[in-house]
Amino acid sequence: MRQLDVVIVGAGPAGIGMALALQRIPGLKYGVLEGDQIGASFRRWPRQTRFITPSFHSNPFGLADLNAVNELSSPAIHAGVEHPSGDQYAAYLAFIANGHNLPVVCRCKVLSVARLPRSGFRLDTEQGTLQTRFLIWATGEFQFPDLAPFPGAQWCTHYAHVTDWQDFTAPRYTVIGGYESGVDAAVNLVAAGRHVRLLVRKSTWDPDSDYDPSLSLSPYSRQRLYEAVDTTRLTIIFDVDIVKVSPCHRGGYRIHAADGRHWDEPQPPILGTGFLKGGGAIQIADLWEWNKEGRIVLTEADESTRTPGLFLIGPQVRHDQRIFCFIYKFRQRFGLIAHSLAQCLSLDASALQTGAGAWGPFGNSECCDGCEC
Ligand SMILES: Cc1cc2nc3c(=O)[nH]c(=O)nc-3n(C[C@H](O)[C@H](O)[C@H](O)COP(=O)(O)OP(=O)(O)OC[C@H]3O[C@@H](n4cnc5c(N)ncnc54)[C@H](O)[C@@H]3O)c2cc1C
Repeated sequence: MRQLDVVIVGAGPAGIGMALALQRIPGLKYGVLEGDQIGASFRRWPRQTRFITPSFHSNPFGLADLNAVNELSSPAIHAGVEHPSGDQYAAYLAFIANGHNLPVVCRCKVLSVARLPRSGFRLDTEQGTLQTRFLIWATGEFQFPDLAPFPGAQWCTHYAHVTDWQDFTAPRYTVIGGYESGVDAAVNLVAAGRHVRLLVRKSTWDPDSDYDPSLSLSPYSRQRLYEAVDTTRLTIIFDVDIVKVSPCHRGGYRIHAADGRHWDEPQPPILGTGFLKGGGAIQIADLWEWNKEGRIVLTEADESTRTPGLFLIGPQVRHDQRIFCFIYKFRQRFGLIAHSLAQCLSLDASALQTGAGAWGPFGNSECCDGCEC
């Protein structure tokens, strides 16, 4: 039985970035358990998918690369591109983890978590059992797609299960969903020469939509969407609330909208309808308090309100109107969580940087020396 102060579950950007913050606490015994490999979710992205948040080496001027997991590195420098692919970003994460000798154990899926009688947790993993005083859950959402957004969704292909849009060789497809993954699917199919019908509830890209990219389409996706429209192979149908997909007697599928409209489609419709609201946190659903919208309730320090000692980091974290679903957003919580753990364990937290100032604007002007990428 191994015993640690802190275990992080998941080695995506949340887990790796969190581990880099914990490394700054002298004397802390911590480890990262990863069910697959570092950056596994990014390795599963469709081959054509690119980061929508641009990477740029702005670090020496006090504004860290938007996609970096620490203040000194830059995916833009590591990959040499502004919009990394999934494989390029996974390679960056592995490079950073190895360069810092982070204690990451790969192929060590956490199978179950039990609370210990006084405090702490027992973790049963693919490689044995261990105990930890604190647990940080960083399992993301990409590997937890919502496969049942409406009846008949089992006839559809979810975005998260696509490896390569070149494998979609029929002349036309229907995509359901008008946010990032639906638009990415439509744009890549059009780029592959297909005709696409995109069914959306509302435009997430009109000028009146919210500016927060967690609620409206990013500039990168808008630009690609307009280019796809210009080919005339993309048809967008608005105000569509899909309620069912059913197989047709003569083959193909019928897509039903709430207002009675329907569309027949020979190919399985493609779902760009999103991921489970709790993402990978549903693996330990009993340890969280869930609100009526199906979101996890957290303290201001991102600790579970139901299970003291359990923290959440990553895209599921929400506080009122603040949605931390991008790396540049959720990385701002690394220092906060590390700080509260150091305090609980009476360890020195002086090397930690907390708050937005750690990442800029202009809060990190010392980093010209020793850039890691
Ligand atoms: C198409 C697409 C494009 C995106 N573009 C951007 C972008 O441009 N910029 C941006 O900031 N964000 C973007 N995002 C969102 C971003 O990818 C996620 O917010 C980010 O991956 C979350 O990081 P994470 O570390 O929380 O999760 P993940 O990267 O999913 O990592 C979670 C890890 O946990 C592991 N795991 C899961 N369960 C267990 C278990 N039981 N035991 C052990 N390990 C486990 C998984 O194998 C995985 O490696 C995009 C998302 C998608 C789907």
